[in-house]
Amino acid sequence: MADKQDDFSSLYSDDEILDDDDDDSYETIPNNGGSWQDYGLSTLKDSVYLPAIGKRQSALGKEGNSAPQLTPVIKMGWLDKNPPQGSLIYQKRWVKLDADFLRYFDNDKDMYSKRIIPTTSITNITNVGDQKFEVVTHNRTFVFRADSDFERTEWVTVLQETIRDQKYTHKDLSGQHLHGAAEMQGYLELRGLRSKLYVVVSGDKVLLYKNMEDYKLGIGITSIDMNVGNVKDADRRAFDLTTPYRTFSFVAESDQQKDEWVEAMQNSIGEALSNYEVAEKIWVDEFNQFCADCGAAKPEWAAINLCVVFCKRCAGEHRGLGPSISKVRSLKMDKKVWTDELIQLFQVLGNRGSNTFWAANVPPSEALSPASCSSDRRRFIAAKYREGKYRRYHQLFGNQEALDNALCINIQSNDVLETLSLVFCGANVNCDTGNPDFPTPISLAQSYEQHLQVEFLTQNKNTEIPRSEVGGHMDTVHYMAPPSITHNGFLYKTASMGKPITERRAKEEFSRRWCTLNDGNFNYYESDRNSTPNGGLKMKEIVCLVVNPLETHGYDHTFEIYTDSERLYLFGTDSPDVMREWVKSIAKSFIPSSAEDLLNRDFERIGKLQYKDGLNLQSPKVGWFSLVGSTLYACFEDSEGEEAIHLKKLQELSIQQENEVLVLVERRRTLYIQGNRKLDYLTWSTAIQRAAGSSGDTLSQQQLTESDIPVIVDRCIDYITQCGLTSEGIYRKSGVNSKIATLLESFRRDARSVRLKEGEHQVDDVSNVLKRFFRDVKEGIFTSEASAAWLSTSAIADESQKILNYQSLLSSLPRVNKATVRALVNHLYCVQRFADMNQMNLHNLAIVFGPTLFQTDGKDYNAGRVIEELIGHYVAIFNVNEQQLKKQLDEITAIIKLREINSSSKVPPAGDFICTVYLEEKKETAEQHVKIPATMTAAELALEILDRRKISVREKDYWCCFEVNEKEETERPLHYQEKVLPILHSMGTESCLVVKKHYSMEAMLIYLASKVDDSKHGMMKFREERNLLGLGLNTGSFHDRYFILTSTSLRLYKEVRSLQKLQIPELQCSHRPEKEWPVRSLKVYQGIKKKLRPPTCWGLTVVYANEKHEKQHWYLCCDTQTEMREWFATFLSIQNDGNVWPSETIKMRASRVPLDTRLGNISLIPLRGSENEMRNSVAAFAADPLALFRDL
Ligand SMILES: [Zn+2]
Repeated sequence: MADKQDDFSSLYSDDEILDDDDDDSYETIPNNGGSWQDYGLSTLKDSVYLPAIGKRQSALGKEGNSAPQLTPVIKMGWLDKNPPQGSLIYQKRWVKLDADFLRYFDNDKDMYSKRIIPTTSITNITNVGDQKFEVVTHNRTFVFRADSDFERTEWVTVLQETIRDQKYTHKDLSGQHLHGAAEMQGYLELRGLRSKLYVVVSGDKVLLYKNMEDYKLGIGITSIDMNVGNVKDADRRAFDLTTPYRTFSFVAESDQQKDEWVEAMQNSIGEALSNYEVAEKIWVDEFNQFCADCGAAKPEWAAINLCVVFCKRCAGEHRGLGPSISKVRSLKMDKKVWTDELIQLFQVLGNRGSNTFWAANVPPSEALSPASCSSDRRRFIAAKYREGKYRRYHQLFGNQEALDNALCINIQSNDVLETLSLVFCGANVNCDTGNPDFPTPISLAQSYEQHLQVEFLTQNKNTEIPRSEVGGHMDTVHYMAPPSITHNGFLYKTASMGKPITERRAKEEFSRRWCTLNDGNFNYYESDRNSTPNGGLKMKEIVCLVVNPLETHGYDHTFEIYTDSERLYLFGTDSPDVMREWVKSIAKSFIPSSAEDLLNRDFERIGKLQYKDGLNLQSPKVGWFSLVGSTLYACFEDSEGEEAIHLKKLQELSIQQENEVLVLVERRRTLYIQGNRKLDYLTWSTAIQRAAGSSGDTLSQQQLTESDIPVIVDRCIDYITQCGLTSEGIYRKSGVNSKIATLLESFRRDARSVRLKEGEHQVDDVSNVLKRFFRDVKEGIFTSEASAAWLSTSAIADESQKILNYQSLLSSLPRVNKATVRALVNHLYCVQRFADMNQMNLHNLAIVFGPTLFQTDGKDYNAGRVIEELIGHYVAIFNVNEQQLKKQLDEITAIIKLREINSSSKVPPAGDFICTVYLEEKKETAEQHVKIPATMTAAELALEILDRRKISVREKDYWCCFEVNEKEETERPLHYQEKVLPILHSMGTESCLVVKKHYSMEAMLIYLASKVDDSKHGMMKFREERNLLGLGLNTGSFHDRYFILTSTSLRLYKEVRSLQKLQIPELQCSHRPEKEWPVRSLKVYQGIKKKLRPPTCWGLTVVYANEKHEKQHWYLCCDTQTEMREWFATFLSIQNDGNVWPSETIKMRASRVPLDTRLGNISLIPLRGSENEMRNSVAAFAADPLALFRDL
């Protein structure tokens, strides 16, 4: 037994390992947390086992409630650690093991360890005599000594099991690693410590390492969970990270760095808190604070169908059951899954309720404890949920009809526990309720507004109920594929084919076959007595399953199967039940568990497709999709859960590359679906296009905007607002009939693709399209059911009662109708506000729109009155924010003013507009407002600005127009021939144009003149932007890469050494590059934003933008300015075919188009950007409409 080292101020270094003689000065930090010093007093000598059942909290001590360490501890106890080099004294350490980390502490009260070793980095555990054992990692070996052989054996066994588990554990479950993506990292001084520490802010943790080498090895000192952290400013360069257990006082190298550290740590706290948002809500019930299966504290995982929460180790076993039994989700990571209803369900049911069912009869000998080994867990969890061994049997168990009946009655109440017990005793979630209006239990529960029942039923639509006959054979398989599906029966089948089916197949074309689905194989036989199949296919070959509409073919119910090898199989039956069973079984057997959510709905088609999206346009990925009505559900690679794409709300849907790519543009993303196989892709493409179009004549069947307004309505209102508010008799005049019909027809065909343009479309035609649309829309905007109620409301005498009535009628309209009424009345309100110009006052509008909207013949006077009142009481009825309304009216006034200026100039509107350009730097006094015609080049713009300021261009002055992006801290000199207008259109609000001298131009021209060819290669430091979830969080760091820039592409190589041996660029090219970009699609900017911590200040930011204006960023950093200049010059030269600068300045001037200095030619809405940005710029006009013209 070694002496206890309790001399705290000792200069003994806690020399970590045999081969490491670092002075571990961290251990001499004076403590300011309280518990730091009293470690030596502990008398607890033996290692602590977590008790088997109950009272975990007290045994865990501080681990119980507020501890930041949430992964359950597997084993902890005192061990002696090998003495540091040059010493013989063993050091007593409190050692703790959980699934993720092995760590040791000075004493059993410390919150922060002296060492933290990820279990993933442990390669071996070996006995080494003398009650000692070694923990071997890739680079280091830690030696511990136990008090007894027994103790030693225990530790070795538990450690070995943990690292074995860690290897098997699904990667989804191995949440935290020391080596996460770092938000910020670097050396920081920790007050009271002799040497600096390497500090890493990563996700919701801050990690301390002795130095960068240790960081790279993954062996840290301690990790600080930021959900209990707080960052405070201290004096000068110092700041404090405070936790309930300790304060870490850091000192940064500079003020700026301090700010960056504080910001990074605050972000980390934010992330930690948001990570725990769901967990905190669910843990409100104390039963949810402990694993439903083993009792470990603070469980972070849940089975959303079984309604239980459990620890990470049990989660691994739940996964093993397969998603049809347990749908495992993380409380921390799967935030999207956790809707309010689901959280509520867990608060109401959760472990407290669910275990009264699932664990009603657990024999104490079979119960788990937090320390149970994996095989015990596996056995218990399979028995509990797969076999239902411990469940409380419902009294109706075994009587299917009675169970189903009881379910249909019970879901009308709020007793979800009873529903759980019915369902898991066999009641059919999809049974027939016998109620034609609400045929399924889910729809029935919905009609009773039992949202928790709906949630529970929805989660269990495809759950396999416990079957006690499947006994313990599961022990051998840890992670398994989805459970094998077995199904058989008679189906009618046609011969397989290689083309889409375009014609109706009569019954005669089908032959009756006995079909079996077993072990992932589908076979069909002449009859059920044959033993040799006529043919078959493997489930894994299936790429798509399509359910045809009723009566498509001779058999009422038919479905199609598409295979990898481009074959199509058509099956039919007359029985809807037979059909449903087959479709369900087949889908279940080829859809992977990662896409299981797709099975929850009655899909029209389901299958896999290749796709690309904004963040990755290089290589396609495989996604799983299902089409349900007008919604495309997708399970993308690398993302949890499914996403819904509302096809009717797409901004654009187009087909590119000769029908091989389907492009879906949503507000936040563009998705490219590719046809790597023709057969199934073609049918997908057709189905998606059909679903994205208008599917009928009611409002909600139209293509919709984000805010649920039919696109046709939105486009017309917009156009009238822009061009028609001053038009006399708007909405009253009739327009040209044939034009109206044509326009309406093209809106009906594909509203999304119709762009209304002044000059091309007449105001009166558009206004009549809108009226005609409303007149014809099926059910009317107020719905045929409610229109009588609307009409009678106008007769109510009491004003306030009348308004209340309108409000209540409004709120009971369907979503799309409500949004449309609101948008239309808002529009009409605006129209009548400008009645002095358009002559359409309240009354006139009401006369026109009353019969139109109520679809009456104009004899019912009430129709007009309703419209008059809706407009008249617009603010009150629709609860309008008056400030916003004023802003809107101001915008309209600005538009009208601009139009007046426009028409007075007598020049037809052209495509040019006015923008702000700065001279030399971006400041107010340097502002110039310039009208930019579509033809204007960068050189012309520069000269225009110089002319105005009477600046003469001297020789060797390289005046140039720069696109300056302040946010990215980058700039790009525009090429002199570049057209300015498209640049302005593509620029975000953070960018501006600055005309200034290009000081490196001369050096670049000299360099280019000396070059033989148009290529360049060499080392640069490279960093890629990993835009996580589109949140713009930057991660990663700079690494050396070898670049080759040729006239066609920029290539990047990882293998520097092998390449450098090959001196000839052509040969180098034959190696496979790590990345490759077409050089002409790249925009190269000078500069890299400081936040990314570029290693030198000579950096380039390379933006790759595709035709959809989605951008990817790469950062290249050079060692010297010359080098950067040379790279930049080479890019310029290649992109402009060697023509980098005009040979004579004079020529440039001569080619200039004489500029029109009149006030006209202003485009109606200033340029670029989203609708909002445009609104803002209109608003800016409104605030000071003359601002733009001041310098003209
Ligand atoms: Zn557990």
